[in-house]
Amino acid sequence: MSEHNSIRVGFQDFPLVFVDSLSDFDGRLLLGNIDLNDPKISVVNTVRGKVAAMVLWHEAIHGVLNYSGLATLLDEKTEEAIVEAVSNGIIQILRDNPWMGSLKLMSSIVKHQSEQGNEENDPLTK
Ligand SMILES: [Zn+2]
Repeated sequence: MSEHNSIRVGFQDFPLVFVDSLSDFDGRLLLGNIDLNDPKISVVNTVRGKVAAMVLWHEAIHGVLNYSGLATLLDEKTEEAIVEAVSNGIIQILRDNPWMGSLKLMSSIVKHQSEQGNEENDPLTK
């Protein structure tokens, strides 16, 4: 399994499973679904591009809320609203600031900026 065939959320690896169609218990069509009991993330195999990113982040954030225990405090509509807000926010931030996808890069940029700041922008040293 390549490293891009699953998403780790908390302690669990969720293999990506591509399916022809998905629906919830009420028969509504879905683009993706995370199964916490039989760990996997199912994705409709026609999903592409930005929608694929949206579906993968959406399901991963469901996992985060469930493993943190927050999901037990939320009704379904509230959980969906939080998942949408956080997943779309992460996608936008990563698209517009790709360097924020790398912890190593963020650390080195912040270190570099703060060192420059100490030398050039600190009013106490001028
Ligand atoms: Zn959802």
